[in-house]
Amino acid sequence: MSVTAAQHAVSVEGVSKTYGGDQPVAALTDVSAWFARGTATAIMGPSGSGKSTLLHCAAGLDRPTAGRVRIGDTDLSALSEKQLTKLRRGRVGFVFQAFNLVGALTVEQNILLPARLAKRPPDPAWVDEVVERIGLRERLGHRPAQLSGGQQQRVAIARALVSRPEVIFCDEPTGALDTQTAAEVLALLRAVVDRAGQTVVMVTHDPVAASYADRVVVLADGRIVRDMPQPGVQRIAEQLAMLGPRPQPTVSWAG
Ligand code: ADP
Repeated sequence: MSVTAAQHAVSVEGVSKTYGGDQPVAALTDVSAWFARGTATAIMGPSGSGKSTLLHCAAGLDRPTAGRVRIGDTDLSALSEKQLTKLRRGRVGFVFQAFNLVGALTVEQNILLPARLAKRPPDPAWVDEVVERIGLRERLGHRPAQLSGGQQQRVAIARALVSRPEVIFCDEPTGALDTQTAAEVLALLRAVVDRAGQTVVMVTHDPVAASYADRVVVLADGRIVRDMPQPGVQRIAEQLAMLGPRPQPTVSWAG
């Protein structure tokens, strides 16, 4: 390997994840991927192909059955649950489809919540810059319910940025937004990468959203089947169409 793990924001090496039960499901099989600092990567693939599992393993939300995940040069498998929680609070940020803001708190309180939980007071100048960049200065005293979906997602992105995480993991960040609002949120994520040098890893099923990324990784049946630098909407859509939807298992309620 020509580059060391520390040059990557995240590295996933030989990761497999099997969910237990009577009929074990291999959600990921021997997946290796490296996410360079200061880039945005989209993870795509048919439903059930392992996208969420990969995101969760890469972010330290879930532990792989085999293989190694590193954030910077920290090997997550070597961390206790307590250390993992600390890492998730300080070194990674999350943006979810459902925004996950706290309804009883103001925009400002939501943005500062992870820093408060991590007992790491953020740099006020940086918070100010984030608020400016997200364009929410007039809304700091509002509650999430008073904001549009796009504004709520911008608050979630600000919240993820405040601790200056090494990587921001996004799970369908535009899944609940209309096309125009989605474009604004994606432009913001793009600016976060280009201007703040952040690293973004984003699961999406939307070729337009994926086209904002520097690279598109496609999963099928728990394996990486495509790894495309800046493929563009057309090519992404074609590649996904070739894979087709994965047939969903028939659920039997008998008995
Ligand atoms: P995707 O995000 O691409 O839709 P997932 O990562 O959610 O795919 O799931 C990959 C496979 O693992 C699927 O077959 C899914 O049913 C299975 N799976 C995901 N989470 C669990 C779980 N907690 N328990 C059992 N099986 C799971």
